[in-house]
Amino acid sequence: MPQSVEDRLEEFISTLERDPLGAIDRFVAPDFFSYSPGPEEPTATERIGALVADLLVALPDFAASIIDVGRDGDRFTGSLRVTGTHANALWGAPGGGHRLDWTTRISLRAIDGRFAVRFDDFSAPEIVGVLRGLGLVNPPDEMDQPLHHPVAIPEFLLKLVFTGQASDRPCRHLASIRVTEPSTRVCAQCLARGDGWPALRMCLMCGFVGCCDTSKNRHALAHYEETGHPLVRSIRMDEGWGWCYEDNAFFESATIVRRA
Ligand SMILES: [Zn+2]
Ligand SMILES: [Zn+2]
Ligand SMILES: [Zn+2]
Repeated sequence: MPQSVEDRLEEFISTLERDPLGAIDRFVAPDFFSYSPGPEEPTATERIGALVADLLVALPDFAASIIDVGRDGDRFTGSLRVTGTHANALWGAPGGGHRLDWTTRISLRAIDGRFAVRFDDFSAPEIVGVLRGLGLVNPPDEMDQPLHHPVAIPEFLLKLVFTGQASDRPCRHLASIRVTEPSTRVCAQCLARGDGWPALRMCLMCGFVGCCDTSKNRHALAHYEETGHPLVRSIRMDEGWGWCYEDNAFFESATIVRRA
């Protein structure tokens, strides 16, 4: 008799607790929750596997579990809890002994005996707090300073932060990319009124540089609202990712390079 989807999920959950990498390899679907990776793109299985492999090195006592599982039509919901002690370097940030204990709601959908995973409440402020605890992001009052360590957060993680998954749908505007390198390192509009900013974005269609959406004045967002230019990238070269305001889609620096 073939295994029921409930039994299969139970096997995934019990495997995850004793062998996180093996569980991802065997049970996580290649597709993202509502998005199939293109032929050049790594699969969800590969992405999540790489992320967890990094965490297992940095947090030797890393553990993941899924609790409170319920069924909602063709999908399952539950809470993913991850714990561990940051003992070794993680993406450039040395181990500081910080204890990670983080819980988030997830949804799972069965595809051919595997599960597509979505992080349902993977909100930017919350994950930035987690990244700060791990020394990967500066404290709030030092956001405009250079990073304490040469940190290279995987773009896939940033993708999750922005979208909760790989993306709701791919950006439809990539053919409009005209400019990929910033011509200035300041937000001129903030400078004119004596304000500061935590980070800068540049418009990939006309090159406008403005402050980010967590800044007081949100000049990059205002530029989109005024001009309809939806594509921005982080101005920092080590953070080459882009964002489309219209599609709520994240894209990686490799995409920008390919389109440039
Ligand atoms: Zn778009
Ligand atoms: Zn500004
Ligand atoms: Zn523009």
